[in-house]
This record gives sequence, C-alpha cells and structure tokens, in this order.
Amino acid sequence: MARIVDSLPSLYSQFLPDIFSAEQVNESKATCDDCAMCETSKHSEAEARRHTNFPMLFSTGGKCCTFFPSMPNYLVGGLLADTTPELAEGRRRMLERIHGRTGVTPSAIGSSAVHKLLYEKKDPFVFGNPDAVLCPYYAKDTGLCTIWRFRGATCSTYFCKHDAGKDGVQYWRALKDFLGMIEWELSVYALWKVAPALARALPTPQSAEHLSVSSTQITGRPPSDGEYAALWSDWEGREAELYKACHAVVSALTPEEFKRVVGGDGLAFTSVVEHAYQKVVNPPKLPEVLTFNPEVVVKFRPGGEAVLSGYSMLDGVPMPAKAFWVLRAELSGLKPLEAARPRLKEADISDELLLNLVRMDVLRAA
Ligand code: SF4
Ligand code: SF4
Repeated sequence: MARIVDSLPSLYSQFLPDIFSAEQVNESKATCDDCAMCETSKHSEAEARRHTNFPMLFSTGGKCCTFFPSMPNYLVGGLLADTTPELAEGRRRMLERIHGRTGVTPSAIGSSAVHKLLYEKKDPFVFGNPDAVLCPYYAKDTGLCTIWRFRGATCSTYFCKHDAGKDGVQYWRALKDFLGMIEWELSVYALWKVAPALARALPTPQSAEHLSVSSTQITGRPPSDGEYAALWSDWEGREAELYKACHAVVSALTPEEFKRVVGGDGLAFTSVVEHAYQKVVNPPKLPEVLTFNPEVVVKFRPGGEAVLSGYSMLDGVPMPAKAFWVLRAELSGLKPLEAARPRLKEADISDELLLNLVRMDVLRAA
C-alpha cells in the first residue's frame, strides 16, 4: 500500500502526523507516463480529446510542467546533498539556477516575478504551453522531472484529472495548502537555525495580487550585484552550503519539534486534509432527485459522442450523445430518480455512470 507520505519528499516521513500514513489517493486517469492531456505515440489526439473540454491539448514538450516551481531551501539542500546518479541532471540544473541568481533567495529558489504573474493569470493559453513557460527542471528528451524526489508542494499534488472529481481536486488542494504552509514554516525555521541574520532580513511573502515588480525584475534579468549582496550578506558564494545546512536541520526534526514549529496552523491545515480525504474515500450516495450543474460544459464529438465537464474543463466524461439527451430530458430536478429509471435503463445509463457524473459535478442533488 502506497501511503500519502510515500508520494512526498522522504524527509517528511519522520515527522508528519498519522493521517499522512493513510493510503494515498490513486488518480488512474492522470496517466503521466503516457500523458492523458497530450497526443502521444500510444494514443491519438482524438482519444485525448474524448476526456477533456480544455481549449487545447498539452504538448509532450512540457506536459503540465509549464510552471515555474518554488523550492524551499531545505528541499534544494536535499537535492544538492543527494549523491544518486538519477538526480545528477537535477543537481546540475539547480546549481545552474544558483549561478544565474534569478529567484535565488535564502528561503527558497523560486521563479522570476514575471513568471509568477504569468502563472497566476491562469490563462489557458499559458498553462500547457511550453513556449510560454517551462519548468527549468523538466527534461524535454525524456518527458521526466529531473528533481522528482525533492519536488515541492504544487508538483507533489497536481493532477489534471481526478477519479473522485470535485472531491478529488479538493483533497489535493488541501494537501497542497498543507505542504505549502509547512514549506514556508520549515524553511524559515531552518534559516533561523543556520543564518539568523538572513532570517531577520526575510521579506514578507507577497501574493501575486500584491506582487511588486522592480524595474530589474520586469526585464527577467538577475538582481544587480548590490541587490544580491544585500540578500545574501556573508553567505554570498556559499548558497549551496546554506541550503544543505537547512536540509540537515529539517531532516533532524522529531514529530514533537515539527508540531511546535508549525503550531496551530499545522493542526488546522491537517484537519482540512483529513476532512477532504474522508470525502474521497467515502463516495457519496446517489441523491433521490438529480439535476444538471448549470455550468456544465458539453461538447459533441465526431462519432455521436458527447463529452461532459463539470468541476474542471480538463476532465471530461465521454458518453453516447443519445444517452446525454435522455439524461437532459429526465434529470431536470422535477422528478425523483426512481421515476426516471425506466428511460435511463433503456439508454444504458447505469447507477455507476450517474454516480460518476455526480462526482464529476456534472449532476447535482436538486
Ligand atoms: S498530471 Fe500532467 S503529466 Fe500527468 S497526465 Fe495530467 S497533464 Fe499529463
Ligand atoms: S519540478 Fe518537476 S514535476 Fe514540478 S514542474 Fe518541474 S519538472 Fe514538473
């Protein structure tokens, strides 16, 4: 059984609370090795489009890694301290980033301000488009992540499609928020232990909404020598050493120390994860009266098929168009499911399909 903690960087296994030892949620539709959002050698463009209503498919040149992740100092340090050959390319890329200086700070190595703004805009023509943004750790030749075992909160929790639909996306978002919170808390804690003067000088994190971009940052150029020296003080030139020391601090945490570091936020975020997890593993029952989500997106495909999206345009349920029209006519919130059953049965619409459409937020309780 793969546990939640097994899908995260391994240092978390020694101090995360018990809930993270539960069995991890499986996302069978997000077939990353044969990316479900791309046309690949194993499946055609038409096959990929049967399961999405997103305006465009992704490119195998970037898949969903059209994103510029932020890595907390202790995960950067873990990667740099690792000696396994499979992460050698990731280490090379990370050192290149450090030498490039852009986004390189004592708390994390992140994106440039321009990339942050682009990502937050959530434009469908940016996401999935490697010509707009591509993660610096993505290997185009293999389609793999070069830093996989040390990837951060967003990368550990992103899936384009969810077996449990809306409940699934809420679970992974809760897990991402939890991990994002601990990444910040642990990176600051480690910095206080290793270099208190740098921790004291840390700027307050800014949301994209309030992100201020300096004239240097908007050009995408690295900070000037003066700006960089102010950020790093006497650690300038020893960035890798600092990151490794932060990794050593976090790696030595006990469960009790972890609880103290993350405090009340840790408890609150953990209970949100637990609640969301329970909703995924305990599927809902079919409501007695069903109706369509008014925001459902339906696209008709060649061959008499309809693709229905509820909670996300990325995820689509294919079904015969004729069956869709029966559903539309029968499930409008005006009569109980029992009364609609004879016609649904004629159209081969099973309870399993109905339940899936409820989870996908295509159908809702009336
Ligand atoms: S999660 Fe990303 S890599 Fe995996 S199938 Fe979806 S788009 Fe492709
Ligand atoms: S860190 Fe890895 S998983 Fe995350 S966006 Fe980059 S290549 Fe993809």
